[in-house]
Amino acid sequence: MRFQQQVEKPPEVSLKIWTCDSDECNGWMRDNFKSDEKPNCPLCGHAMIEDEKTLPVLENFSAVSLKKNK
Ligand SMILES: [Zn+2]
Repeated sequence: MRFQQQVEKPPEVSLKIWTCDSDECNGWMRDNFKSDEKPNCPLCGHAMIEDEKTLPVLENFSAVSLKKNK
């Protein structure tokens, strides 16, 4: 009998985010971070558009709760 090889991938979730509409800017923010219905980019002030981003669950978790160094 041999061991099964299990590749553990961190679970990911698809999050609603806002990305900067400017081609020269990589700015984006989480939907729960936006300060307005139509947020502007915190980096360049450009308008932002709705998008989706796949992030590891852990990272998502740290976004909605305080970051802990553990
Ligand atoms: Zn921007």
